[in-house]
Amino acid sequence: MGEPIAFRCVGCGREYEPWSVDYTCPRCGPLSGTLEVIYDYRVLARRLTPSSFAETRRPSLWRYEELLPVGVEHAVPLRAGWTPVYSCRTLAAELGLSALWIKDDSLNPTASYKDRATAVAVAAARKLGRAAMSAASTGNAATSLAGFCASAGIPCHIFVPKTAPRPKVAQLIAFGALVFAVDGTYDEAFDLCSEASARFGWYNRSAALNPMNVEGKKTGALELWEQLEGEVPDYVFVAVGDGSVISGICKGFSELVELGLAERVPKVYGVQAAGSAAIAHAFERHARGGPILPAEEPADTVADSIRVGKPRDVVKAVRYVAETGGGFVTVSDDEILAAGQDLPRRVGVFAEPAAAAAYAGLLALLRDGTVPAGASAAVFITGSGLKDPEGMLRGLPEPVVIPPELSAVERVLSQ
Ligand SMILES: *Cc1c(COP(=O)(O)O)cnc(C)c1O
Ligand SMILES: [Zn+2]
Repeated sequence: MGEPIAFRCVGCGREYEPWSVDYTCPRCGPLSGTLEVIYDYRVLARRLTPSSFAETRRPSLWRYEELLPVGVEHAVPLRAGWTPVYSCRTLAAELGLSALWIKDDSLNPTASYKDRATAVAVAAARKLGRAAMSAASTGNAATSLAGFCASAGIPCHIFVPKTAPRPKVAQLIAFGALVFAVDGTYDEAFDLCSEASARFGWYNRSAALNPMNVEGKKTGALELWEQLEGEVPDYVFVAVGDGSVISGICKGFSELVELGLAERVPKVYGVQAAGSAAIAHAFERHARGGPILPAEEPADTVADSIRVGKPRDVVKAVRYVAETGGGFVTVSDDEILAAGQDLPRRVGVFAEPAAAAAYAGLLALLRDGTVPAGASAAVFITGSGLKDPEGMLRGLPEPVVIPPELSAVERVLSQ
């Protein structure tokens, strides 16, 4: 495995001995002091070649064990990662792109990108000998942790806003988690989970707090690079709530460059809902020379997975995205729902609203010319439409009910 050489604070730059701190920098606190896992890239660069990962023959994110802080011996049976990437030639041509790739992370075991982070965080809990875990979540991180804790056979404590979509709650209950449905926002559930985890000794997987998350989440970028046989898209689009997924994707690409495996990073674009855009606004402020923090605003959007008022990985997300030369774009709920209805018809991938937002962001930047004709782009589909079918189908016609007769079929066909 990769053997990290330090956990480094993004706020003050102080380096901690790996595993000496569980969560964030004790001096800087949870928002400005998130930790980055640092490896000895010179040593790794000597050891790794473009085929190193395929040689492991592992159809999961553990093929990147050399770049992960925990070894595969701590992994649970549930498989995360190595999801398909689809080249959508017809849609690319229609949009004026030279290529369009859809990376379908709805095909993870609990049907979202969050499984990448959870796989590594649960392996870390096993390595550290922690007996129980916890997470606060808008829904997907919770269902993911519940599934992986079931696979590990350890107790799982979940804090979700009581408004979380029913299918996500169904997954939680099915996986046997102890669920606290908090009568409050995600941001309030987050703080309560931190307090309860400290009090009861649970290993907390909540976004940004736990440095394992970004390590797991970077594997989506590593996979895309490997699946495209070293080709790097010009643009990458991903939906953003807390900012951990996009931080992971940026870190993955930049590590490939650091290791001499890729020549450049793509321009990574974060997509936020217009009603929940704290990171997009922090990015603009920072670009004008202002501070990243505080970044806190009311949050309201149909895309529940990115309904985040107080993003926890804002510092990394803003800095890492800026380093790629990318940026942020906001889209309205109408654009999100339209994209969510367009995408499954065009490419056969059914995304939840938050995931469809990434595609809506690509369409918006094609319209305003930021993404030029002839460019190539990849879109990460971070969660399944089955997570929130009612939300996705809003405004679409119901199927016609017919008697079991051929004439009725003829009647419908002739309409
Ligand atoms: C969590 C999530 C995101 C955003 O990830 P963050 O790390 O919160 O920015 C996007 N899409 C889906 C489906 C998610 O569950
Ligand atoms: Zn610090």
